[in-house]
Amino acid sequence: MLAELALQGIDVLLVDKSDFCAGTSSAMTRIIHGGLRYLENAEFRLVRESLRERNRLLKNAPHYVKPLATTIPIFSWTSGILPGIRNVLGWPAKPGDRGALVIKTGLMLYDLLAGRKSPLPRHRFRFRRAALELRPALNPEVICTATFYDAKITYPERLGLELVMDAEAVYRGARALNYVRPESAAGGTVVLRDEVSGETCEVRPRIVVNATGPWIDSTNRDFGRDSCFIGGTRGSHVVLDHPELVQATGDEMIYFVNRDGRICIFYAVQDKIIAGATDIPEENPDAVCDEAEVDYILEAMRLAFPSIRVDRSHVVFRFCGVRPLPRSEALTPGQISRDHSYPVLAPGNGIDFPIYSLVGGKWTTFRALAEQVSNEILRVLGRPRIRDSASLPIGGGEGYPRMPEGTGLPPARLATLLERYGTGADRLAAYLQAGPDAPLTSHAGYSRREIQFMALYERVVHLDDLILRRTLMGLLGQVNGPLLEELAAIVSPALKWSRQDAAAEVERTIQLLEKVHGVMANARSKSSFR
Ligand SMILES: Cc1cc2nc3c(=O)[nH]c(=O)nc-3n(C[C@H](O)[C@H](O)[C@H](O)COP(=O)(O)OP(=O)(O)OC[C@H]3O[C@@H](n4cnc5c(N)ncnc54)[C@H](O)[C@@H]3O)c2cc1C
Repeated sequence: MLAELALQGIDVLLVDKSDFCAGTSSAMTRIIHGGLRYLENAEFRLVRESLRERNRLLKNAPHYVKPLATTIPIFSWTSGILPGIRNVLGWPAKPGDRGALVIKTGLMLYDLLAGRKSPLPRHRFRFRRAALELRPALNPEVICTATFYDAKITYPERLGLELVMDAEAVYRGARALNYVRPESAAGGTVVLRDEVSGETCEVRPRIVVNATGPWIDSTNRDFGRDSCFIGGTRGSHVVLDHPELVQATGDEMIYFVNRDGRICIFYAVQDKIIAGATDIPEENPDAVCDEAEVDYILEAMRLAFPSIRVDRSHVVFRFCGVRPLPRSEALTPGQISRDHSYPVLAPGNGIDFPIYSLVGGKWTTFRALAEQVSNEILRVLGRPRIRDSASLPIGGGEGYPRMPEGTGLPPARLATLLERYGTGADRLAAYLQAGPDAPLTSHAGYSRREIQFMALYERVVHLDDLILRRTLMGLLGQVNGPLLEELAAIVSPALKWSRQDAAAEVERTIQLLEKVHGVMANARSKSSFR
C-alpha cells in the first residue's frame, strides 16, 4: 500500500509494531503462484489474477522471484473426479486423492489461465518408468507425475523492505517506521508509540488502512472499533538439513497430496529443504509450530520418499504464520477462499476517519490488492491516479542482472551479492571496497562490512531483524551463540548499542529462536554468554 500510494503522490505513513514483514509475510511457503489448488474451489478469477501477478513479479523482481518447476506425484488415474465436479458446481466436498485425469484437467486450465504470453513453460506428464528414472527415491507406487511451473521467492522479507525503501525514494511524503504502533485514537488523532524508546507522537490521518494481517480485528479494537473479519488458519513449515532429500527433490518443488487430501510441498532452499504447510483454524495470531505439525509434515515426506529416513534430528528450523483469511463457514480450511477484500469501517465510535481492513489475499497478489484499495482511496480523496505499478521494477530488480563493475571483488563474491541484493549489489560493493573487510569468523558466507551496511542502511532495529529478515541465516539453521555475539559486536556502533544492549539482544534472539523456531542447542551451544 505504501508504495502504491507514494507513486500517486499521497502523503502516507506506514507503521509496523514489529519489523517489516515480521508477521505472516515471513511465514509463507515462499512460492509466487497462481494457486492451482484454488481451481478446485472454482475460483477462476482469483487464479487468473494471481497468475498475472506472478508473471509481473517474475519481470519486476527477477532478482528474487525465479521460475520453479513443480512436480506432482500421482497414484491413481481416476480418483477425485466426483469431489472435483461437486466443488466446481458449488456443492463443496472434502478434498481427497487427486487422480491423473483430475490433475490433467486442472493443469490444462492453469496453462490456459496463465495465457499465451506466460513466460513459463506449459505442464508435462511423465509415465511411471520415466518418473522413477528421474527420481528414484519417489514412492514406487506412483503411476505418473505431472510437472508444471510457478515461481519461488528467495528473499520475501527483503522484497518487502525494498518496497518500503522504493516508496520513500519515489515521494518524500511517504515514510515507514518499524517498531512503532498506534496506541490509541480519539476524534481525528492517533497516538503512535515507539516500541523501543517508548516515545509517543500524534498524527491526524484522513484515512487509516489496517493491513495488520491476522491481527486486523485486534488492531481495530485498539482504535475502539469492533470487527470480526478474520477467521485465520495456522500454517507451519519445517526446514531440514538433509542432503539426500535435497538430491531427491533436485531443483524442483514436490507437490504431494498427503493422506488427508491436503497438499504438502518440499523443495530445496540452498542446501536445506523447506517442507510444509499445515492449515489449521487458529485464533491466536502469534501461534507457533507445534509438535503434531512437525510429525504431520515429516509423515508426508516419508510417504513421498519411503526409502529416505527422515526424522526430527534433521529439523534445523521451524516457522509458523496465521493466514489472515476471511471468517468462513467452509467445510475445511483449504476451502476458505484465498481471495482478498477490504471491508470499510465508516467513521464512528468517537473516531473521525474510516478504517479500511485488508482481509485475505496472498503474498503473490499484494500489488493487485494495493492497487484496488488505492484506487478506492484516490476516489475518496478526489485525486487522480498518476502512475501505474504494474510494470515497475522493484528494488534490486531494476536493471537486473547487471553486475557491479570495477569493484576489484572476485567474480564469485559478486555473483553472491547479485543473488542477495540484485542490482543493489552496486551500492553494497562500493561500500565493501571503501574500508578494510573480512569474512565473519562464524559465517564465512558474509563479511563484516556487509553486516555493517545492513545495520546502517536497512532499518535493522533488533538482532533478529538481521538473522531472520535481512539474511537467511535463521531459516537455514546457521545461527549459533558465537555468530550472534559476533553480529551483535559488529552492528553495535551503527545501532549505538552498549555492551549491555548487545548482550540483551543476543539473549532476546536466543529466546526467540527457542520459543518460536524450535532452535535449541544450536543457539546456546558454544555461546560464551552462558
Ligand atoms: C503457512 C503459510 C504459507 C503461505 N504461503 C504463501 C505462498 O507461498 N505464497 C503466497 O503468495 N502467499 C502465501 N501465504 C499467504 C501470505 O503469506 C499472506 O497472505 C500475507 O503474507 C499476508 O500479509 P499481510 O501483510 O496481510 O499480513 P502480515 O504479513 O502478518 O503483516 C501484518 C503486519 O502488521 C503488523 N501489526 C500487527 N498488529 C499491529 C498493530 N496493532 N500496529 C502496527 N502493526 C501491527 C505485524 O507486525 C505485521 O508485520 C502463506 C501464508 C501462510 C500462513
